[in-house]
Amino acid sequence: MNATTHPTLAPLVTHWIDGKEVQGHGPHVAVYNPSLGREARQVTLATADEVHAAIASAAAAFPAWARTPALRRARVMFKFKDLLDQHAKIIASIISAEHGKTLSDAEGEVTRGLEVVEFACGAPHLLKGEFSDNVGTGLDSFSLRQPLGVVAGITPFNFPAMVPMWMFPVALVAGNTFILKPSERDPSTAIYLARLLKEAGLPDGVFNVVQGDKLAVDTLLESPAVSAVSFVGSTPIARYIHSQGTAHGKRVQALGGAKNHAIVMPDADMGAAMEAIVGAAYGSAGERCMAISVAIAVGDATADELITRLKARVPQLKIASSETPGADMGPLVTQAHKNKVVGYIDAGVAEGATLVLDGRGFSVAGHEEGFFLGATLFDHVTPQMKIYKEEIFGPVLCVVRVPDFASAVKLINSHEFANGTAVFTRSGEVARKFVQDIEVGMVGVNVPLPVPMAFHSFGGWRNSLFGDHHAYGQEGIRFYTRLKTVTQRWPETDSVKAEFVMPTMK
Ligand code: NAD
Repeated sequence: MNATTHPTLAPLVTHWIDGKEVQGHGPHVAVYNPSLGREARQVTLATADEVHAAIASAAAAFPAWARTPALRRARVMFKFKDLLDQHAKIIASIISAEHGKTLSDAEGEVTRGLEVVEFACGAPHLLKGEFSDNVGTGLDSFSLRQPLGVVAGITPFNFPAMVPMWMFPVALVAGNTFILKPSERDPSTAIYLARLLKEAGLPDGVFNVVQGDKLAVDTLLESPAVSAVSFVGSTPIARYIHSQGTAHGKRVQALGGAKNHAIVMPDADMGAAMEAIVGAAYGSAGERCMAISVAIAVGDATADELITRLKARVPQLKIASSETPGADMGPLVTQAHKNKVVGYIDAGVAEGATLVLDGRGFSVAGHEEGFFLGATLFDHVTPQMKIYKEEIFGPVLCVVRVPDFASAVKLINSHEFANGTAVFTRSGEVARKFVQDIEVGMVGVNVPLPVPMAFHSFGGWRNSLFGDHHAYGQEGIRFYTRLKTVTQRWPETDSVKAEFVMPTMK
């Protein structure tokens, strides 16, 4: 398939408001095919009026949707799940064409999103309240979880299907109505998902998409009709969304950037650890918030062996246009992002790290204009270097050498970001100590990408998450509902006398 002229995609990506595509009157910006390095289509950016129209549609749809029994809401999700299954390949091809990740990686993304839909299908059980009988004489108490109202999701470019599906399936089955503001860099997937939701039977207005930039986001943050905002993206924007959203009285969960470390212990199965790290560092060209971007080798002998193995293995990676069968890694998302990553490699060299493999100047035959960068490896990286401190979000792996396990844990616990981490070891004692002592939200033991399953929850610590709730799973249900606790008495006629002291069980 020629991804520039993708068969299902129109030349202009629109909004989805009140159950239909809406062209919009805002400015247009280019959407690229990263493998070709060419503009493929344009997306229209929402004006404030268009965002208000989406909010009005979601607000109007809310009362009836909130009153719809959870079982019926879940049935829409069951149907949506079937449609996702049927359309998984085409959705993956849309993701791949705009993001640049390989088709197989994009299919994996769709599956991980679909698993949250499966979780959301259990809504009647997930939303069950609690009941205490006879809490006082003739008194019962029960709690229920009610939807918040209109909620918004603002999502990054790197998972245009999965990250929105961390949010809206849970929000919708809980009885909320939803406005998605996807990344303007790969906006088409959101519209495709909106069409499938409609086909699944979702009433108009319950799910809306506004394409846009800061203006659309700020309009959502400032609107009193929006009750909650879920955000996933970079840390500076996550911090902004959290402060602005909470200042406007909203519930906010804002997931930010990452710098995920993997410790390699001297007793690790070095072949397996190296393979795991290669996949986690360079898969999706490193554009994953759970990518391993730092390998901490404990001891110089471990570091030397790891570097020797990486030096032999990494050049074998098949870097090709995203639709090439068997490709391990595609291009970066835009030329601007590629330039930023190249800037980090330049900085690493200038700061004195050892450049073992240099991805700069890499190109793919027949795709010379594509936003490709070769897999890059640095050794002797120190905690003071910019390439260690900042998130690079590209195919660049930094190896840091430390003398012992305690120094490795200290390093990880001191980093600004605390999204994911992993240890590679054969020692149960070390693994258990790591799990207990590490101050990071998602932890792997001999697992490089410990992305929690849909029935657990996803989230980092420190500057990787602002707010109190992680995403999806039970945390998602808690985020998208508020608790109401009822105390009830059904007295016999004329049996109640006024009481003037605080009611107690004495
Ligand atoms: P980004 O922060 O640039 O954009 C995210 C969203 O915010 C987009 O929808 C964008 O339109 C919007 N936005 C951008 N600038 C804005 C502004 N000034 N005001 C208001 N809204 C604005 O992130 P990105 O480049 O699309 O995605 C990559 C980042 O996302 C990386 O930092 C990565 O670690 C992070 N990420 C984190 C997680 C996680 O779960 N913690 C998951 C995926 C991606």
